[in-house]
Amino acid sequence: MIVIDGSQGEGGGQILRSALALSLVTGEPFRIEKIRAGRKKSGLMRQHLTAVHAATVIGQARVEGAVIGSQELCFAPAGVKAGSYHFSVGTAGSCTLVLQTVLPALLTAASPSELVLEGGTHNPHAPPFDFVARAYLPLINRMGPKVVATLQRPGFYPAGGGKCSFAIEPAPRLARLDLPERGTICKRSARAVVAKLPRQIAERELQVVRDQLSWEEAALSIEDAGSSLGPGNILSLEIESDHVTELFTGFGERGVSAEKVAGKTVMELKEYLVANVPVGPYLADQLLLPMALAGGGTFRTLAPTLHLTTNSEVLQQFLPVAVNMRQLTRNDWEIRVESRR
Ligand code: AMP
Repeated sequence: MIVIDGSQGEGGGQILRSALALSLVTGEPFRIEKIRAGRKKSGLMRQHLTAVHAATVIGQARVEGAVIGSQELCFAPAGVKAGSYHFSVGTAGSCTLVLQTVLPALLTAASPSELVLEGGTHNPHAPPFDFVARAYLPLINRMGPKVVATLQRPGFYPAGGGKCSFAIEPAPRLARLDLPERGTICKRSARAVVAKLPRQIAERELQVVRDQLSWEEAALSIEDAGSSLGPGNILSLEIESDHVTELFTGFGERGVSAEKVAGKTVMELKEYLVANVPVGPYLADQLLLPMALAGGGTFRTLAPTLHLTTNSEVLQQFLPVAVNMRQLTRNDWEIRVESRR
């Protein structure tokens, strides 16, 4: 049985989610120890349990240790079952992290699936729904499957209560993906979203974008997410290029000024633009797994994050692939996923 050390590298929930995703696809059982040992509150939390539950149902798996606070879990799948599923994270736990766990298996399942997820759709430290829909899924769709994402209701931390759905048309196998260049930038847009909060927050965030990026007025917009259960604010900066769309998101937080939220997001975007690479830091760790399932792929990105290197270690425990990371210039790296078969 594959044994995963949950404390390795970034030591967070991604190790568990990647292991579940890989186990579902390969059919290999695994045991994970020291779950989230690198986090302040270690062990399984509610949102991780939803991911485990979703993987258990979809993979008809036998599971041990799936309780709150558990530091160890055994998972043995018995075959992926496509179908219509509805999972609720309950608290504002992230819907997209549940998606990250079960999507790979459904991409190559025998028939289509429909996933309805309830919880947080725009959570700090998780892919925001818009990132999934506009940056991640278009690349997945380029690999063969067809996934359509719909946001029914946004859910912001801490109230949650969001709802989104994913219609998944699988492909027999994933095609490799190569993203060596970004190409020409075709479109830039900045969207400041407020829910049950003063519009002025969004205006102040966009002022930072005006001041620091000098984008034309038509590229800036404010959205009132009135249907949200609780208050929330995000700033989403999107760069659409010939070969890839990237999104950088700032999350409004009590006690943190709108200027600070926007300033940090602009800084992340500038780092990406200056490096002239196609793939940003979040997309990088999320692309690795589908590329490994496809048996190969390459992309250029910024200096590897701990999430990227950790994910690389975990997937090499399940799949016969090698991941090579080569520095080209200061903040420009080539990531190469190759089959060892
Ligand atoms: P973990 O910290 O282990 O729970 O993993 C967090 C996951 O969320 C990783 O796959 C990150 O790439 C992803 N993530 C975190 N923040 C963002 C963001 N702002 N945009 C897109 N993805 C994100």
